[in-house]
Amino acid sequence: MSQHFELRCRECHTNWKNQPISFCQSCYAPLEVTYDLGRIGKEVSRHEIARRPPNLWRYKELLPLPEEYDASLPVGFTPLVTASNLGELFQSKSLYLKNDSACFPTLSFKDRVVAVALTQARNFGFDIVSCSSTGNLANAVAAQAARGGFKACVFIPADLESAKILGTEVYGAKIVRIAANYDQVNRLCSQIADKHRWGFVNVNLRPYYAEGSKTVGYEIAEQLGWRLPDNVVVPMAGGSLITKIHKAFKELIKLGWVAPKNVRFFGAQATGCSPISTAVKAGRTEIEPQKPSTIARSLAIGNPADGFYAAKTIAASGGWAEDTSDPEIVEGITLLAESEGIFTETAGGVTVAAARKLFAQGRISPQETTVLCITGNGLKTTDALAGKFEASEPIPPKLSAFEEYLERDLVPAQAVGGAR
Ligand SMILES: *Cc1c(COP(=O)(O)O)cnc(C)c1O
Ligand SMILES: [Zn+2]
Repeated sequence: MSQHFELRCRECHTNWKNQPISFCQSCYAPLEVTYDLGRIGKEVSRHEIARRPPNLWRYKELLPLPEEYDASLPVGFTPLVTASNLGELFQSKSLYLKNDSACFPTLSFKDRVVAVALTQARNFGFDIVSCSSTGNLANAVAAQAARGGFKACVFIPADLESAKILGTEVYGAKIVRIAANYDQVNRLCSQIADKHRWGFVNVNLRPYYAEGSKTVGYEIAEQLGWRLPDNVVVPMAGGSLITKIHKAFKELIKLGWVAPKNVRFFGAQATGCSPISTAVKAGRTEIEPQKPSTIARSLAIGNPADGFYAAKTIAASGGWAEDTSDPEIVEGITLLAESEGIFTETAGGVTVAAARKLFAQGRISPQETTVLCITGNGLKTTDALAGKFEASEPIPPKLSAFEEYLERDLVPAQAVGGAR
């Protein structure tokens, strides 16, 4: 290896150096970035990393970055917060939230994958960057392309939430709405990538993109004081994030930066699009594609690219997967907001609602340390809460009117709130 990383086939283990491809050219299995960890362990220590600025570039040796890259955007290093109120409700003694609803710059964990992918897009000489997206990825590509001076053109299913469409167009990106679901959009993007020299972050740059997700895992370990949790609960769309958090923990153990531990991985999906959790529950790793129908649009991938590896990771760790109905997703959103003051999007609602089931089923032990990955921001999916909160009648600016209001509305409302 001339560089400290290169692409390797996940099945036949052929090395493919560094190039914009995502499949093995001999056996068609997906490629993954592999590192010379022996060399990295000699070049950098966790103490040195801990002294660097608080963003994902602090893990540069463990990311597939070219020699020259722009590290000026402080992406990542989101808060890991204790969740004692939610913990009490779940009867968990040690519950944490990894809060990527506060990720810079576009309020979801997709900022991480794009930050890494665009360094390689530049390295490979792409002028136009693109993606197929369920919403958050389009936001992240559009914002970082604007700053980096790339042209951006993204492809989405036509029925995405309006905030996610607006939150792409505002950066000057071209948005192509396709009258189809994500899986068909993705197939089209593969065909375009074969024909045009565009850098599709999650198609021909996918192995590099996926490595960005590892930083969620590095941060969880570092923020726990270089310690691994016992359990993590992770929302799944394509199934990449959950496998990359697993890869991150494995690398940290190999480097000797954390004590070895068998972390259990728990996956969360919406019932209306649950190809991975269905496989896990049936004890298989082969994924049967589904036609998505759920308010959790960001997770609505019916034929997940990394579904097989996600199911395998979960099963091998001794974890489990759960899925949640649309009403349960809305409950998950409001439960997190009311208990911990964090407003997450539908994907976060899925994670919270699934975690609630996993604790109730006794699949996660209350004594163990558990981290829920909150991956996106609620302000992008307010549609999911439509009709949930009705606007009250305005009152005149008079003390007497307020006193009346207090008697009539506020006191009974408080009583209801207190009884929850
Ligand atoms: C994309 C996305 C996920 C899932 O990511 P995969 O790596 O595709 O499994 C989870 N949460 C949010 C908010 C997302 O946008
Ligand atoms: Zn191969």
